[in-house]
Amino acid sequence: MLKKCDCYVESVECRVSSICADIKQKRTLPSVSELSAEHIIHKFAVMCADKNLYIGVDLGGTNAKAGVITLEGELVCRKDLPITDLEENAVAERLVECIREALKSCNHTLSEVACIGVGSPGGIRDGLVTSAANFPLWKDVPLAQMIKDRCEGVTTILANDADAAIAAEVWVGAVKKHGARNMAMWTLGTGVGFGVVIEGAVVKGYSGLIEGGHAIVVPDGDLCGCSQKGCIEMYVSASNVARIAKEAARKPGAKSCLPVGDFGSYEVFQAAAKGDEVANAAIDQAADKLGMMSVNVSRFLDVELIVFAGGMTKAGDILLEKIQTAFDKYTWTKLPNNAKLVYAEVGEDSGVIGAGAMAKLHVTGEI
Ligand SMILES: [Zn+2]
Ligand SMILES: [Zn+2]
Repeated sequence: MLKKCDCYVESVECRVSSICADIKQKRTLPSVSELSAEHIIHKFAVMCADKNLYIGVDLGGTNAKAGVITLEGELVCRKDLPITDLEENAVAERLVECIREALKSCNHTLSEVACIGVGSPGGIRDGLVTSAANFPLWKDVPLAQMIKDRCEGVTTILANDADAAIAAEVWVGAVKKHGARNMAMWTLGTGVGFGVVIEGAVVKGYSGLIEGGHAIVVPDGDLCGCSQKGCIEMYVSASNVARIAKEAARKPGAKSCLPVGDFGSYEVFQAAAKGDEVANAAIDQAADKLGMMSVNVSRFLDVELIVFAGGMTKAGDILLEKIQTAFDKYTWTKLPNNAKLVYAEVGEDSGVIGAGAMAKLHVTGEI
């Protein structure tokens, strides 16, 4: 961690000596960006000026959210605005409007902001959104620079939204609470996200394509949108739990109180709570696969913590209990089980707080 220095020269020495210590300890070389003069000057400016806020921006397909966050990770205020025009400049304008209104609502200004973090869906590289399913016309959009230009030159960084959600748990959520350095996180929403933190660092993989939601659990199983068959997402995402319940409820002779028309995972959990067998079977098969795959995650990575996040966890403790039961059924008994299975702690603000955490990571070098 950087110490606050009195002068520019000392701050550079401080940074250089901390990098040397890192090299000795980890036996790895720092990245070029870490050593760049601009970066050192930026760190110095943040340390010496009275910049004690981060901004976290969560860009969704239909909504923009911006939050003002303290250096300790407390969300001071938040502003949400709908996204109606998908054109890149219009989206950038909307995000900036969100940032300005959030700051205004708690009487702060951009001059107090150390860094703006933007969490975006899709592929992210060097401040560019390379592509995003929600914004089909976007190709290599320099979103970080576009926001920086509209925000008085405040340093702006871009992060993948899944990484941001993990960063939120590291900063103020489950990872912090349990003091874990090694964790994996399943995000159970419309799709299934998966992320890994090892020794406090988010693991990126070779091309940023760690996609645990597309790990295969059923050989030659249901065809997934990714072109593989039997991906875990096809059995445990919110939409697929609802699909599996629907298919079972419509079978001749099925006894179920599930509605005849369309419904989502929320209705499945409601019906299960009333003892509906079809609903319970749909949830049980999902929990079973998540428990089994979490055993595999433990065997591959030996993490201390496996976190479950996303809309499905709103179902309450029943889902986590079923996953734990499955984990216990599949896991070994002759060696220690180190992984604790828990729900995420940050909740619906995780996108905003996580983007703020990525801003903190940029400025301080750690979360
Ligand atoms: Zn797949
Ligand atoms: Zn074995």
